[in-house]
Amino acid sequence: SFGTGGSRGSLLGALDRTRTAMGARALRRLVGQPLRDLPELRRRQAIVGALVAQAAVRAALGQSLAAIGDLERLTGRIVVRGATARDHASLRAALAGIPCLSDELGRLDLDRDAPAIDPCADLLTLLTSAIDEDDGGTVGIRPGFAPELDAAIAAARDTRRWLAQLETRERERTGIRSLKVGFNKVFGYYIEVTRPNLSLVPAEYARKQTVAVGERFVTAPLKDAEARLLVADEEIAALEAAALERLAAAVTETAPRLLATARELAELDALRSLAETAALGDWVAPILTEDDDLSIEGGRHPVVEASLGGETFIPNDCRLGGAGCPRQLLVTGPNMGGKSTFLRQAALIVVLAQIGSFVPARAARVGLVDRIFSRVGAHDDLARGQSTFMVEMVETAAILHQATRRSLLILDEVGRGTGTDDGLAIARATLEDISTRIGARCLFATHYLELTDLAAALPDVANVHVAALERNGRVVFLYAVRPGPADRAYGIQVARLAGLPPWVADRADALLADLVRQRAAPASAAPGIDCEPDAPPDPHSEPRRVSDADGLYQLSLAGAPAPAPTAADLLRALRDLDLGTMTPRAALDWLWTQQERFGGPGRSRG
Ligand code: ATP
Repeated sequence: SFGTGGSRGSLLGALDRTRTAMGARALRRLVGQPLRDLPELRRRQAIVGALVAQAAVRAALGQSLAAIGDLERLTGRIVVRGATARDHASLRAALAGIPCLSDELGRLDLDRDAPAIDPCADLLTLLTSAIDEDDGGTVGIRPGFAPELDAAIAAARDTRRWLAQLETRERERTGIRSLKVGFNKVFGYYIEVTRPNLSLVPAEYARKQTVAVGERFVTAPLKDAEARLLVADEEIAALEAAALERLAAAVTETAPRLLATARELAELDALRSLAETAALGDWVAPILTEDDDLSIEGGRHPVVEASLGGETFIPNDCRLGGAGCPRQLLVTGPNMGGKSTFLRQAALIVVLAQIGSFVPARAARVGLVDRIFSRVGAHDDLARGQSTFMVEMVETAAILHQATRRSLLILDEVGRGTGTDDGLAIARATLEDISTRIGARCLFATHYLELTDLAAALPDVANVHVAALERNGRVVFLYAVRPGPADRAYGIQVARLAGLPPWVADRADALLADLVRQRAAPASAAPGIDCEPDAPPDPHSEPRRVSDADGLYQLSLAGAPAPAPTAADLLRALRDLDLGTMTPRAALDWLWTQQERFGGPGRSRG
């Protein structure tokens, strides 16, 4: 995986401008399943292309989709659980939005590629006849849909009206002006008469309960009304449930069509989202072919670009395969120089191309790949308790076993997790196998400048590097990918940028210079090439085989004597000191070190 996951900062995060939850799910599916099916990809591209070109239709469709909502989930819920009147009302509202959306789709310049959307008009008609929503937002069965239900509701309404008028009637009949009709959960309906009026109570009143202020009574008609009401409420509930069930059955019967419609709409939402992203980011339609080359002009990494804030992202080209082009690129350059970004952006562009999307580039030609393999980062899987190197090798092994000539391989820092000799040997053998046996298109980033001589040995391999330059002792990243190997690693400069204490960085500089000198010294160095003490190691000047156990790589850094420093070294080191963050102790250490370097007693006296 190269960060196609769901969270912010992922490819999906950069792409997702869907307007419905089902569209978001569809987009996730699309991104998770790149295709090699050229006709299907062309169909998707045509839709995305039309939506990119017609911004007004794109916007209108976005609104229509948002109004329709998650038709897929709604249908599923009704089929599985039966439904409330509200679910049916939501379904009706969703279906009601489809004709408008279809009109908008009709305005898109698409002929046979236009999605065919079944509006399920018959179901909409049924739901409209069945579901009613009053001004207060209460949803129920519309009168006329279920006559028995209507009758039960009318009867209950009559009984309630009779009850409501009972108080007035009984007051008039008995002359008891304070008579009240009430209800409680234990005794149901009752007529309450206060003590002074008890003599006026008619004979047919039956005493039921004595309370502080008087007595409560019931009458036969009151009991009867109460019983009727109880039955009517149950009957209404049952008839309502039956009506909703009838509707749910109709929905279930229509479910295959509803789900097909939902699928079309969800895909449309996903493709509309891709179009929106493409339009906002000025992406292009990649040319898709069955060849096995890849050509990206002015490619960008959508996620890194979005994270740069105001800074401009430097676009880069990438050519793999095809006439006169290498199939494997060995990418070198300083730490933080943009190697990983360059690798991943190629992979993302191919993924985007193979889901039917536009891509963040000025132009792109993608010979469809059968799989993308990526091995990136040397810091994964601590959580699963596997050794970093073990994970790296398991993944590399899987890639070498499974990749074909049509695959795209993204390998970042293979061999990083073990000792330099072993790592370098593994990296070299891996790239050799990819180039000579598998033949896959491959981007291979490495810090081992020693590997760059492979380009001379293997016809399909070429070097590129991310450019950086040194200005006033500081490394400046250009992020531009250029032909040829990197001249040096700039590791120490980057370490300085990261805040490595200057006395440590100085010491590292001295050790490095020494190492370079030692490597230049042996007779194996090409005659006539004489390295300056401070010159970067030139990998081409001293090709050597990694498998040689001649001790060339076994230099003991710790034992190497520091080179004689110059006054300029001291000045530079002094200038680079970050006094603001230094402790007195560290400052003293630094002074000691400098004193030692210039032959003074240094720490030995302190
Ligand atoms: P390391 O070797 O240390 O892993 P790297 O060479 O792989 O580093 P990246 O991680 O790709 O470097 O890039 C480092 C940072 O540089 C990115 O997070 C981004 O901010 C910036 N960057 C990379 N490429 C570009 C580019 N083309 N344009 C602008 N900024 C870039």
